[in-house]
Amino acid sequence: MDNQVYTEEKLKEVRKKYLEERDKRLREDANQQWKETSGDFSYFVEDPYIDQKESREPLQTKHQIVIIGAGFGGMLAAVRLVEAGFDDILIIEKAGGFGGTWYWNRYPGAYCDVESYVYLPMLEETGFIPKEKYTNASECLEYCNILAKKYGLFEKVIFQTEVVSNKWVEEKNEWLVETDKQDAISAQFVVHSNGPLNRPKLPGINGINDFKGHTFHTSRWDYEYTGGSHSGDLSNLKDKRVGVIGTGATAIQCIPHLGSSAKELYVFQRTPSAVDIRNNRITDANWLQNQESGWQAKRRRNYESIISGLPVEEDLVDDGWTDAFKDLFAFMQDSDLLKAGVEGIGKAMEIADLKKMEKIRKLASDLLEDQETAENLKPYYRWLCKRPCFNDDYLKTYNLSNAHLIDTNGNGVDKITSNGIVANGIEYEVDCIVFATGFEVGTDYSRRAGYDILGRDGLNIEEKFSMTKGYESLFGLHAKEFPNAFFFGIGQTGFSSTYTYALDEQAIHLAYVLSKAREKCAITVEPVQESIDEWVQTIIEKARISKEFQEQCTPGYYNLEGAVNQLPQNNTYGGGPIEFFDLMEEWRSEGSLKGLELK
Ligand code: NDP
Repeated sequence: MDNQVYTEEKLKEVRKKYLEERDKRLREDANQQWKETSGDFSYFVEDPYIDQKESREPLQTKHQIVIIGAGFGGMLAAVRLVEAGFDDILIIEKAGGFGGTWYWNRYPGAYCDVESYVYLPMLEETGFIPKEKYTNASECLEYCNILAKKYGLFEKVIFQTEVVSNKWVEEKNEWLVETDKQDAISAQFVVHSNGPLNRPKLPGINGINDFKGHTFHTSRWDYEYTGGSHSGDLSNLKDKRVGVIGTGATAIQCIPHLGSSAKELYVFQRTPSAVDIRNNRITDANWLQNQESGWQAKRRRNYESIISGLPVEEDLVDDGWTDAFKDLFAFMQDSDLLKAGVEGIGKAMEIADLKKMEKIRKLASDLLEDQETAENLKPYYRWLCKRPCFNDDYLKTYNLSNAHLIDTNGNGVDKITSNGIVANGIEYEVDCIVFATGFEVGTDYSRRAGYDILGRDGLNIEEKFSMTKGYESLFGLHAKEFPNAFFFGIGQTGFSSTYTYALDEQAIHLAYVLSKAREKCAITVEPVQESIDEWVQTIIEKARISKEFQEQCTPGYYNLEGAVNQLPQNNTYGGGPIEFFDLMEEWRSEGSLKGLELK
């Protein structure tokens, strides 16, 4: 009934406002606006969490399987392989420990806003009980170490070692993996699990090198400078003026801690995030311990089904994510709307989206004492244009007298000087600049991975994973001319909002393929071109996120900063994660390894 207030006129008005806000933020340099954290900026990616740099003799070893990356992807690959009876595994990791995202992102307030009981993998196997409904960064890191210990991964890893290149050596039917420690490691199989959001980026702001104060990126938090810990209490900042650039999912988590610790806090905003209620709570250990065997798989499937718009009997997770998606996909249960066809469904989704965004905008009005600041904190775009956020402290931070929101009306910071940050023509003097500016997305695969991958005849992986020519893979996992290589990631595969779920499914699939290869005494595993072509066609046909939707969104990494991805094959699997996981399971039970050539 209340949908009647959402007249065509009202929708037109909202669309116009969203487009105006988008236009303010469109930039010609789009995804080129960023500075790489290399050369003069390489100190931004040094590891602040190690006591000292390790030095050791170069390795010249040979392994059956090398896994690059010791985040959840690499760890799950190793765990599933160990379970399948593989032992000769070497994990190579540039950081000083396990954890990937959770190794690097230790900033104060770092939380995972996907429910811990679905996010943390293998909870039934480890018996671990997350303390709260939403787990925090230190618990995730602790959990990674528990998982590693349980499956003997500490004996299979080298840390502080960065892969620099990967070459297929045809005569030997093996990969040569070279590292910054001058290692030359041979491997029959290589798993690339280098993380989709692994390479920090900096905005290309004029003068970024002139600043004389202290700076760091959120993914390399400098606790020596700020004091305190993941839980806050950044006591060294009590006499410091801090500037934060960025207001994305990371910024909104650390800003409450900076607000309560710093003498003055200036937050430079280009686009406000959509910040909804989180409502965290302590885990009822009894409840978790009394779940029936198989509960986690059931819960994960239930959660991702809701997020994919699939019918479910109940909402087991029941949080901000599932609420929003149930509303967005309500048309699935409404036979009248289904009859109304694409247009009717599109309109129903648009109205559900608008309701959600109106609620979020109202939250800013309700929580802020100063209504001008509240207005500036209101996001004007559709809910999924940018990463939705959930946090109960962020908005209220601006009620503190020392916390200042510097809204730049979509323009971003003008420049950085030796003393501070200039925005809207005004210089704000600060002692420290925190870059909450995110990670590279949509740049070349090798640049993000940090190493080249050269397949047969020196063919570079860029040829297969090219955004301009179009991605080419089988299930996102295999690429032609790259025998025995497995790529964990998001391209042409089933992407789930519980990213660890998708990674685990990839790991299960990998273990199956390698077990089959072992059974058949195969030396190489490689996809055939015909199957790749079919898969690429499937991705094109299923490309769900319409180009039109993305073009109407404010720029961000979801739409390559407004330079919308033109090729439908550069997408994830549009049928959603559950359909993809089922497809993979069917493929495995069919048993013929269709599309792969084993020699
Ligand atoms: P983002 O890329 O989302 O945000 C970068 C921020 O920097 C944006 O607000 C951007 O503004 C701003 N920015 C860039 N250049 C300028 C400039 N010149 N002037 C002012 N502002 C600027 O990175 P995050 O690290 O916040 O998040 C990355 C991802 O990490 C998330 O999307 C999410 O997937 C993941 N994450 C997940 C969490 C979880 O709970 N599971 C928690 C935290 C992160 P603009 O928006 O205008 O581009």
